[in-house]
Amino acid sequence: MKAYRGVDNVIRMFRPDLNMKRMNDGATRASLPNFEGKEFIKCLQKLISIDKEWVPYSTSSTLYIRPTFIGTEPSLGVNISGKALLFAILSPVGPYFQTGSFSPVKLMADPRYVRAFKGGPGDCKLGGNYAPTIMVQQEAAKLGCQQALWLYGDQHQLTEVGTMNIFMYWKNTQGEIELVTPPLDGLILPGVTRKSLLELAKKWNEFKVTERTFTMADVMKALKDGRVLEMFGAGTACVVCPVGSILYGGQTLEIPTMSEGAPIASRFFKELTDIQFGRTKSNWTLDVE
Ligand SMILES: *Cc1c(COP(=O)(O)O)cnc(C)c1O
Repeated sequence: MKAYRGVDNVIRMFRPDLNMKRMNDGATRASLPNFEGKEFIKCLQKLISIDKEWVPYSTSSTLYIRPTFIGTEPSLGVNISGKALLFAILSPVGPYFQTGSFSPVKLMADPRYVRAFKGGPGDCKLGGNYAPTIMVQQEAAKLGCQQALWLYGDQHQLTEVGTMNIFMYWKNTQGEIELVTPPLDGLILPGVTRKSLLELAKKWNEFKVTERTFTMADVMKALKDGRVLEMFGAGTACVVCPVGSILYGGQTLEIPTMSEGAPIASRFFKELTDIQFGRTKSNWTLDVE
């Protein structure tokens, strides 16, 4: 999560209730006890209020909040921990994008690597899901890519971008303008940003909004037909992150996200950051004090 210092100097959190719910789901998956999300939010409000000078006086930098939950039973067995520690780490973080530039990323899509699988814990923010991705991230960097595009299954379904959910804005095979993102089928992390973008798009009610599986073959066909309009990742770190190209099967697929300046991604970015920094009032935020 992050704490945002608004243009009115009020410090806000963004949908902390959803983060608490997700963390409790992860705790259940890891055999850690559940906790009262509302009470932990109160602790975070107090902590951030004490450390409020660490929340940057900026609408591009924020205070990153990393709630953490670990088993602390002093035993070596693979068993339920009788003791657990719930705590939060805070750190100021700078802007994700250099000011003014909404720079697109190049993705490495290598089906040899799998982030999550059916029945696994890939839909939980468990530390063990992330350590094995660092090597893949290094590999991507060696190939001049900024992130991994995580594929799944024989059909090479697109699931996530690095630690972001993925969205494609396109003209579908029926000729309808559609925003599509993979469904919550256990293979993806249920992002708060993802949920918020879906809710915003449904409220705009200007194009079809669909949670559905899509594959690299769908993307390549649509690119060939000129039907891909924008592709972007979505997550707390960057809000939205435009995709410029995908390295796949030894070929670089150019994604025309920036050709018209990414109007949909930009609009999501503006609407969410307006809420986070208090330029638009919303019940999605909670004041720290
Ligand atoms: C954290 C995370 C996201 C984004 O979730 P937000 O709640 O929007 O920040 C997406 N995918 C993965 C794998 C993540 O770890």
